[in-house]
Amino acid sequence: MPTLTSFDPATGEAVGSVEAAAPADIGHVVARARAAQPAWAALGLEARAACLKAAVADLRAAAPRIGELVTREMGKPLPEGKGEALHAAESLAAEVDEIVEALRPQVLEDAKTVTTLHRDPFGTCAAITPWNFPVLMPQQSVLPALVAGNAVILKPSEETPLCAQAWADCLAAHLPPDVLQVVHGAGDVGRALVRADVDLVVFTGSRETGIMIMKDAAEGLKRVILELGGKDPLVVLDDADLDAAAAFAVRNSFRNAGQVCVSTERIYVDRRIAAPFVERVLERTKSLVQGPGTQPGVSVGPMVNARQKRKVLEQVESARRAGARVLAGGADAPGNFVPPTVLVGVDHSMPIMREETFGPVACIMEFEGDDEAVRLANDSPYGLGAAVFGRDVARAERVARRLGAGMVGINRGCGGAPGSPWVGAHQSGYGFHSGPEGHRQFAQVRIASRAK
Ligand code: ADP
Repeated sequence: MPTLTSFDPATGEAVGSVEAAAPADIGHVVARARAAQPAWAALGLEARAACLKAAVADLRAAAPRIGELVTREMGKPLPEGKGEALHAAESLAAEVDEIVEALRPQVLEDAKTVTTLHRDPFGTCAAITPWNFPVLMPQQSVLPALVAGNAVILKPSEETPLCAQAWADCLAAHLPPDVLQVVHGAGDVGRALVRADVDLVVFTGSRETGIMIMKDAAEGLKRVILELGGKDPLVVLDDADLDAAAAFAVRNSFRNAGQVCVSTERIYVDRRIAAPFVERVLERTKSLVQGPGTQPGVSVGPMVNARQKRKVLEQVESARRAGARVLAGGADAPGNFVPPTVLVGVDHSMPIMREETFGPVACIMEFEGDDEAVRLANDSPYGLGAAVFGRDVARAERVARRLGAGMVGINRGCGGAPGSPWVGAHQSGYGFHSGPEGHRQFAQVRIASRAK
């Protein structure tokens, strides 16, 4: 059997191995899922939810071990790795309840007709997930698919197989056999899964891979839910609280070493306040501590792998050659590390302002007037998240409503209150998940009508 070995990006050491699938094996895996699915669906919404909620105690007990695996496999600071695993356990029951509510049948009627709107499973679901939130991303993809009555085959990122497997083991122990299976491997295994006999593909990852998946899924008119990349802008208006804006800019540019789909990737600041804003960003950047995520006190870990590091450094270097000034970081560092980097003097001719960077880089560009800020922020094929900072909240809200992103935060990050979807506009997504509207995309709507 081929194996897939997972390496610690901070040290290069092997963390462990899993059995890898070959593309040729995938047909059998999907056939098992298809055979298991009708009985799973027949259990009904509440019973399926109860099976999943029964996993909470195991997930909670395993959270410290899973969290450590997260950090060792992909590099984020240990409190964040453990926090992610614990949050998965603690949020599961409420998430499942929300999905149940979203999927209940609805009755529609007038004087003559009674219609019941059912939300049925599609059948088999492929969940293909990335490495940056290697527990929460599988959870967000797999839970609604299972509660809806689908059988799921999870293919986690080849960078983080161990923590995803450990998470899935906790769930699978409470489910009938083959309702949740995990296959390991790289893109070729993911591709075989999309092309196999699955009805729904739920994917979180890069725009490029999303396009390939959509093409492969087109053949069988398979349903797809694609959560793709972003190039999120932060707009700092002239009346912004500069400390708050700088704190957000630094936190959201460097969290998880910038490897977050809603990282701040472009910062637009009103020319009149640019100098004090940049000064504050630099001060805060200097206080960050970089190192292996397992080391206490570290705030920024390594890039997940050498390829990601090379991509980030190439963008920085190309911007520098085109006239950008590097005010912090920028230089190479040993191993997979990229120091927190601050660039000014950037413009939209540079790849670093157009392509997703996914690294610890804050790119700051000045604007004159709110119209220019809106034009620059919207000058991107992406539209995932955005943020606007300004003390006059009504004005900041007006600017926010003119942005093309699916999720905009005003004086804060872009995530919404409970019940909000996680939604990308433009080329940041196709379909979306979370919140009642997102959960419903994991089910086939059917209606049955009768005369009154
Ligand atoms: P990254 O390059 O940051 O790892 P990707 O979007 O390539 O991001 O990968 C996200 C997930 O998609 C991973 O699980 C990966 O193995 C999988 N994947 C990569 N290529 C394909 C493909 N052609 N079809 C299906 N899945 C793929």
